[in-house]
Amino acid sequence: SPSRSSVIIVGAGISGIAAAKVLAEHGIEDIVILEASDRIGGRIRKENFGGVSVELGAGWIAGVGGKESNPVWELAEKSNLRTYFSDYSNARYNIYDRSGKIFPSGIAADSYKKAVDSAIQKLKNEEADRVGDSSKMMEPPPTPKTPIELAIDFILHDFEMAEVEPISTYVDFGEREFLVADERGYEYLLYKMAEDFLFTSEGRILDSRLKLNKVVRELQHSRSGVTVITEDGCVYEANYVILSVSIGVLQSDLIAFNPPLPRWKSEAIEKCDLMVYTKIFLKFPYKFWPSGPEKEFFIYAHERRGYYTFWQHMDSAYPGSNILVVTLTNGESKRVEAQSDEETLKEAMGVLRDMFGPNIPYATDILVPCWWNNRFQRGSYSNYPIISNLQVVHGIKAPVGRIFFTGEHTSEKFNGYVHGGYLSGIDTSKALLEEIRKEKERKSESQTLL
Ligand code: FAD
Repeated sequence: SPSRSSVIIVGAGISGIAAAKVLAEHGIEDIVILEASDRIGGRIRKENFGGVSVELGAGWIAGVGGKESNPVWELAEKSNLRTYFSDYSNARYNIYDRSGKIFPSGIAADSYKKAVDSAIQKLKNEEADRVGDSSKMMEPPPTPKTPIELAIDFILHDFEMAEVEPISTYVDFGEREFLVADERGYEYLLYKMAEDFLFTSEGRILDSRLKLNKVVRELQHSRSGVTVITEDGCVYEANYVILSVSIGVLQSDLIAFNPPLPRWKSEAIEKCDLMVYTKIFLKFPYKFWPSGPEKEFFIYAHERRGYYTFWQHMDSAYPGSNILVVTLTNGESKRVEAQSDEETLKEAMGVLRDMFGPNIPYATDILVPCWWNNRFQRGSYSNYPIISNLQVVHGIKAPVGRIFFTGEHTSEKFNGYVHGGYLSGIDTSKALLEEIRKEKERKSESQTLL
């Protein structure tokens, strides 16, 4: 029969690695980490593109410079991670229409302010509706209709500008964001963490407790332990499991639970929304876009909301790389994932020609990450409605018997972010350590009784 470990951690993203590290620090070293893919990092993932490291998943350390210190920023500083301050304040002055004209700054600033005000009013209405106070309800703000209104609505909501919603990340940690632009990748932070408790050599993890390419398909759990079965037929036994897979994976049928999860749990899991967020990278033979930090972010206003709206040049992050990034979300993300890269490239080139004229060079390379169709992700991050029912988050986080849940989606305050994943991993391991302590206490009590 397979040997039994204290804890199996499913998933080696930042939450799983942080959870394992906390356990190891508290003397629980007979752990096994099962990771479905061939690398650690999960949604933190670099790839070589056009000669530089680009981040397909998380790219920014969000929430810096505030009253509390962001723990991921601390990790980055300790590792000397190369980062770059992102100044979004000029983006609104670089809004292009379909004929390549930039909206005059007065009009752009005005539209921007109106959009922020109406988003805030909408939130207030929702809050008044929730508490049943109709006296606070105001005329609902008009829905965005024109291309510029749609473009601003997109960057405020889908790109998550800090101005609208009181997002804990920006309230607690500060409103600044830093882009990670390091050849070692954002994932270097995970390697540094892993080094503290796993055996590594020359930057590689060689510890047999980390098992890659192990796709967990079934969790059999009882009062006495958990049996984990992987796609390749391996069986692992443990006293406890920490499950760090994404909310999208939990909503899919990749992992069977035996017995099935209780109703309160599966209902909470179903209630959490998913965001799909796609950064498309384009490489050019030379630069044709306006340069300078105040031109780093630019916006394309089209009558279809979210159609290749948000652009960024990589001139400051990677000088001389001639790379542009465009961000798509949700429906548009799913649409491009379903078509060929050639098709996507053609669309993106059409948009760039609208903005910069017909004579610009054709991109020499394109990279389209597929987070939606990745069966180990099924989306980019969780998206609780801003006035979400706390019960839903608690339900998603609560353990079921010997199965403990972690990951960004279990973070009440910081879901959707790297620091949310990191802090949730620490949190879940602390809760498990407490449970292990109680179990020991119960055992020694019953032994005294005997
Ligand atoms: P994951 O990193 O998903 O880790 C879970 C692991 O479980 C994965 O490695 C997966 O392969 C593995 N797994 C899944 N199923 C199984 C299975 N059946 N068996 C075994 N293993 C399994 N956050 C920011 O702070 N700033 C940003 O700028 C930012 N941008 C983002 C952009 C994109 C495109 C995406 C996708 C995410 C972004 N995020 C950003 C969010 C951030 O990346 C996540 O919140 C965080 O990395 C999640 O970590 P996690 O450990 O919870 O999950």
